[in-house]
Amino acid sequence: MNVLEKKNEERELNAADHRLIGQQLDLFSINEEVGIGLVLWHPDGTVVRRIIRDFWEDEHLKNGYQLVCTPHIAREELWRISGHLEYYEQNMYLFEKDGEKYVVKPMNCPFHIQIFKSKPRSYRDLPVRYAEWGTVYRYERSGTLQGLLRVRGFTQDDAHIFCAPEQAKPEVLRALDFTRHMLQKFGFKEYRVHLSTRDPQHSEKYMGSEQEWNNAQKTLAEALKEKNIAYQETPGEAVFYGPKIDINIVDSSKREWQCTTLQFDFNLPKRFNITFTGTDGEEHEVVMIHRALLGAIERFFAISIEHCEGNLPTWLAPTQAIVLPVSTDCVRYAERIHKRLLAHGIRAALDASTSTISYKIRQAEVRKIPYMIICGEKEAKLQRISVRKHKTGDIGLLRTEELAKKIKNESI
Ligand SMILES: [Zn+2]
Repeated sequence: MNVLEKKNEERELNAADHRLIGQQLDLFSINEEVGIGLVLWHPDGTVVRRIIRDFWEDEHLKNGYQLVCTPHIAREELWRISGHLEYYEQNMYLFEKDGEKYVVKPMNCPFHIQIFKSKPRSYRDLPVRYAEWGTVYRYERSGTLQGLLRVRGFTQDDAHIFCAPEQAKPEVLRALDFTRHMLQKFGFKEYRVHLSTRDPQHSEKYMGSEQEWNNAQKTLAEALKEKNIAYQETPGEAVFYGPKIDINIVDSSKREWQCTTLQFDFNLPKRFNITFTGTDGEEHEVVMIHRALLGAIERFFAISIEHCEGNLPTWLAPTQAIVLPVSTDCVRYAERIHKRLLAHGIRAALDASTSTISYKIRQAEVRKIPYMIICGEKEAKLQRISVRKHKTGDIGLLRTEELAKKIKNESI
């Protein structure tokens, strides 16, 4: 976390704070009885999470990734091989059962490696790209926890790319395009990019050979240049196992958040002996790239709802439209409209309470529902609906199908 981000996270609770929005819109909660830093996703939050996940998975499949699914725990032995037990134990949750020690996963990488290693691989099989919404658990000191921004259990939108050395650059280029495409869909158009390289004065601190580092750093820098992406190189900021590109998104309040990371790894391929048979018939070490695009979903969700102050775009809104009958006489007409919207695949709700129409509208505004559909006698007679858009106002009389089409067109 950079200094700027630390400042972002330490700020006082204000109206646009995701914790407040989360409570107002009933999206999630964190409860001491369950445990601090552990998130309970409420029904509406779960709807948003599912939309993001479905979209994410579909886009990955279109982009040549394969989806995988891995367990939440694994034997201690796995983490001994990966080196996590040696370097990361203070952040891991360990337990014992029948004399066998287990670890609650702090990362997904060793599992993806095991899937890759489940059969022999030749150069013809590469690149292999595995993607997973993997939920991990890491111990963080209680004082550092904050809403969804810093938690102890979170879901990474994780991916690992296994490729031959000559495929590394095309893979980085491809991942950069994909990142830009995805972040734009979520309304983030401004980024700051950092290339974290090793500290040349302390090469002993790093895994991997001089040549591996030079090649990987060159690959990342060239890829950024080829894509015309302005970046700042930060020597000494690389992790011990490889250089990386970090993409910080800039939100509507001009705050910077690190989300995307694209990281070479010279450590795990050696520890797990991950190889492929080359054109020469010999075994060669694969190049492994870790890639998280949104980062931690909980954190990305917090940033996203603050970015739009809770006014989620229509494609992400848990309820896209709410049907509001003006009086009890109009409830039957409103029910028909509601059913038709549901049949069109619109996430629609109905407020058939006996409250006044102005109260219903106010409530819908508080819930930040993108479309309010007013059904009165006039509308029933004309077989139309009066549509009101959140933050915009009346947009006139429409047919139900016209509104359904409009909402679908706004989607993504
Ligand atoms: Zn990884």
